[in-house]
Amino acid sequence: MTTTATIVQRFATYFPGNSDKARLFFAPGRVNLIGEHTDYNGGYVFPTAITLGTHMVVAPRTDGTYHFVSEQFSKKIEMDATKPLLYREEDEWGNYPKGILRELQQVGVPLHGADVLYSSTLPHGAGLSSSAAIGMVSAYGFSELAGVHFDPLTLAKLCQRMENEFMGVNSGLMDQFAIGFGKKDHALFLQCATNEYQSIPLTLGNYKLVITNTNKQRTLATSKYNERRQECERALAFLQEKEPHLVTLSDVSLAQWKMWEDLFTDDVLKRRARHVITENDRVQKAVAALECEDLIGFGHYMMSSHESLRDDYEVTGRELDTLFQCQKAHHGCIGTRMTGAGFGGCTISIVKEDETASFQEEVAAQYEKQTGLVPTFYVCDSGNGVTEIQVVRGDE
Ligand code: ADP
Ligand code: MG
Repeated sequence: MTTTATIVQRFATYFPGNSDKARLFFAPGRVNLIGEHTDYNGGYVFPTAITLGTHMVVAPRTDGTYHFVSEQFSKKIEMDATKPLLYREEDEWGNYPKGILRELQQVGVPLHGADVLYSSTLPHGAGLSSSAAIGMVSAYGFSELAGVHFDPLTLAKLCQRMENEFMGVNSGLMDQFAIGFGKKDHALFLQCATNEYQSIPLTLGNYKLVITNTNKQRTLATSKYNERRQECERALAFLQEKEPHLVTLSDVSLAQWKMWEDLFTDDVLKRRARHVITENDRVQKAVAALECEDLIGFGHYMMSSHESLRDDYEVTGRELDTLFQCQKAHHGCIGTRMTGAGFGGCTISIVKEDETASFQEEVAAQYEKQTGLVPTFYVCDSGNGVTEIQVVRGDE
């Protein structure tokens, strides 16, 4: 029996009598291959949609109510879309689809009600953007159900607004963008200042993407993230005294940086700026390497990116650095780095397919010995963006 059919079958057990018209949608998670902490500095990022993600089975109702079940969370959520859709703490994870309904309502999509089941292969809170996946799958699914077709950029912006305004999370557009425009065996070379992008072939051949979760509690993540943003603003202000036309740190070329680097009196600000400027350069060189089908070269830029995030930007920490060292030392691994904001979360590695088992075994043993934590691994490929999956009824 296909996975598609089993999910729809499970939907029928949660919502007996309403599976005839059920439709199935999928949104992937995303992983950023290189270009970290550059997004809010107007720089380059290079994410890819992955084959892990969130399915949504949805069947229409006519009474204006929404009934949500998630196989990852025990609380069932119900809401009435004929009443104001407001954030409520007790709605827990249900605030994500609720925020999407509210955004859709504001752009005139009719909300007649639905029964909804979510099921995900993504870990949540680990930096693979399960929140953008549930947002994008919901926005796409509910609008298609209403017969409204949005382009990926409109969907991405709608979902970003939900995270920023409804959930109160200060995040950029990269995640939703990668999920909206994702294409199998491609990654998105995105310029965050302008949202200009190019889809670049990512030919992995007999290599796999391996994501490793440190499983570290990320207690410092938000405060340190805000601290880094402020440091970048201060570094930019210092450089604007030399060159008033600079709008972001990413406007500084590597050649300009070499002239100005020694003028910094504050060593911390100097290192923060150096990370951003050299990271933009690395992303461009890493993309150029891929365009020449030089995956090994690409992998080297990933490792330099980690070193810069560790030494100049100081967002790695013991767990990520331990994983990095263990992974880099494995003979099947040609590229590895932390991915996401840091202070915990995940690493992304490129590993020879027939070495992925020994990679997991050896890295887990060393990491556990050194940190006392047990890592989790996700082996995946670059995958397609948000989409509808046809349900083959005969299979159910
Ligand atoms: P990340 O996006 O890095 O995975 P976030 O903290 O931004 O982490 O988002 C995680 C939250 O998104 C979860 O706590 C939950 O509220 C919601 N969420 C994600 N996936 C699902 C799912 N499959 N079912 C229900 N809620 C989900
Ligand atoms: Mg998130």
